[in-house]
Parts: sequence; structure tokens; C-alpha cells
Amino acid sequence: MNEGILLVLSAPSGCGKTTILRQVMAELPSLAFSVSHTTRQPRPGEVNGRDYHFVSVEQFKAIRDSTPSGFLEWAEVHGNFYGTARQEVESRLAAGIDVILDIDVQGAEQVRRNAAPVTVFIAPPSLAELERRLRGRGTESEESLLRRLANAEKEMQAADSYTYLIVNDHLEQAILALKSVIIAERCRQRQIL
Ligand code: ADP
Ligand code: 5GP
Repeated sequence: MNEGILLVLSAPSGCGKTTILRQVMAELPSLAFSVSHTTRQPRPGEVNGRDYHFVSVEQFKAIRDSTPSGFLEWAEVHGNFYGTARQEVESRLAAGIDVILDIDVQGAEQVRRNAAPVTVFIAPPSLAELERRLRGRGTESEESLLRRLANAEKEMQAADSYTYLIVNDHLEQAILALKSVIIAERCRQRQIL
């Protein structure tokens, strides 16, 4: 049996990644979302265990610093810690299940060093549109919003290192593009072990 495909998805905050991913997961079977750990506060409507495992800084550091580290990758993003539980990902891949990681550019770089993921960067049509979407979502304080916009410019510079680039201008087209990438990767000839 082939191992599952490891898909890494990154995008500047507010670009529409969660919206796209939700729809793609509803339409494509057998795709497991890796629920990250984070020290940030839940947003209204977010559910512990579904959107994130919300943990304290102490809990996060205990997982991170165990031997071997409980995280496949971790990073500090916008002033909070985020990490991917190693066990959750590795056991699913070994069982032949495709796993999708929604992680930032620092995390993607760590995963690339230790595995051979398929990486997808989602970009906004412009920084002005990104700001409109972030403000429209209405979830961030002004400070958090400005920090996310400043980070976006840096994150965009990492887009070249990704296997695929999708510009989320028209939502339906972006959804179709991500589905197409996953379907194509599933058809790729792989060595049977
Ligand atoms: P992210 O997960 O990347 O932070 P979200 O999925 O929360 O972003 O999207 C941010 C906001 O932008 C949401 O209000 C969402 O409805 C909106 N949005 C997403 N994609 C588009 C699009 N193609 N056109 C216009 N608005 C969009
Ligand atoms: P948000 O706070 O908007 O949910 O996410 C902020 C950023 O953290 C996004 O770029 C998101 O992809 C990233 N992120 C979420 N989970 C992880 C993770 O486990 N590891 C890393 N490195 N980044 C993550």
C-alpha cells in the first residue's frame, strides 16, 4: 500500500484558505485535516478539537520539548505558538490516508526538510484586497490585523518555494484549482513499496 500524500497549504492570514479548504474537504473524500495546537485564543464559533487544540503556553512547550518532540513542526506566528502533532500525521500517512496541513511558511520549510510534501501557496489578488477581507471577517483587533498584514508581505516572498501557486481571486475557481491539484497528485505514478 502507498503511504498517504502529505499536503501543505500556506497563505497569508485572511486570504481565504479556511473558506477554500472547507469546501474542498466537503467535496473530496478521504482527506484528513491535521488539527494544529495553538496558544491563541479561540475566535467566536471555533471549536476546540475541530479547528484547533487550544492549549496554554506551558502545555505547548511540554509537547514541543518532549523527546522526540511531539511536534512534526512548530512556529511562532503573529505572536502565538502553533504546532502540528507528529503522531496524528504519521499514523494517518502510514495508513494510506492523505493529510492536509494548514501551516505558515516557517512550518512548511521545516516539513520540507524532513519529508517530501506537496506544497500549495494561496495568494490574495492584492494586499489591498487582503486587507478588505481581513477587515470584513471582523475577527481581529486593529493591532492583530496590522501585524497580519505586515507578515503577509514577508510570507508572499516565500511563495516561490511552493510546488503550486493558487491566486484566490474568484472563490469558485480557487476551490476548483485546489481540488484539481489534489486529484492530479493522487494520479501521480508513485513507487509501490
Ligand atoms: P484565512 O483562513 O486565509 O485566514 P478566511 O477563509 O477566514 O481566511 O477568509 C477571510 C475572509 O475573506 C472571509 O470573510 C471570507 O468569507 C472572505 N473570502 C474568502 N475568499 C474570498 C474570495 N475569493 N472573494 C471574496 N472574499 C473571500
Ligand atoms: P490563524 O490564527 O489565522 O488561525 O492562523 C495564523 C497562521 O498560523 C496561519 O498562517 C496558519 O496557517 C498558521 N498555522 C496554523 N496552524 C499551524 C501549525 O500547526 N504550524 C504552523 N507553523 N503554522 C500554523
